[in-house]
Amino acid sequence: MKDLEGFKKYCAVCSAEAVYVCSKCGRPVCRQHYNLLKNLCSVCESLLCEICGKNPSIGYCINCGRVGCEDCLVQLSTISYICVECLRRGGRVRECRQA
Ligand SMILES: [Zn+2]
Ligand SMILES: [Zn+2]
Ligand SMILES: [Zn+2]
Ligand SMILES: [Zn+2]
Repeated sequence: MKDLEGFKKYCAVCSAEAVYVCSKCGRPVCRQHYNLLKNLCSVCESLLCEICGKNPSIGYCINCGRVGCEDCLVQLSTISYICVECLRRGGRVRECRQA
C-alpha cells in the first residue's frame, strides 16, 4: 500500500481523505469510492461496461438503460444501442406486449 503521509490527498469524488489511488486513472479516492476487487475508483467503474465489466463503455442500451462497450452493444442507429442481453431476449425496442 502506498504511503500517502506528508502528501495528503483527497478523494476525487467526495473530498474525504484518500486512501487508495485508482490503478486506471490515478485519482486518489477514499475507501468508499474504491472497488478493491476491480482496483478501480467509482468514477472509472461507472465508465465501464455494465455487462462485461471489462471495457470502457461507448453508450447505453435503450431497452434496459445499462451502459455497455462495443462488444456488448449492438448499434441500432447512429446514436442508439441495444445490449446483447436484451437482444438475445428478443427485446427489440418498442413496447412489446406479451402475447
Ligand atoms: Zn470518496
Ligand atoms: Zn479511476
Ligand atoms: Zn462489455
Ligand atoms: Zn439491455
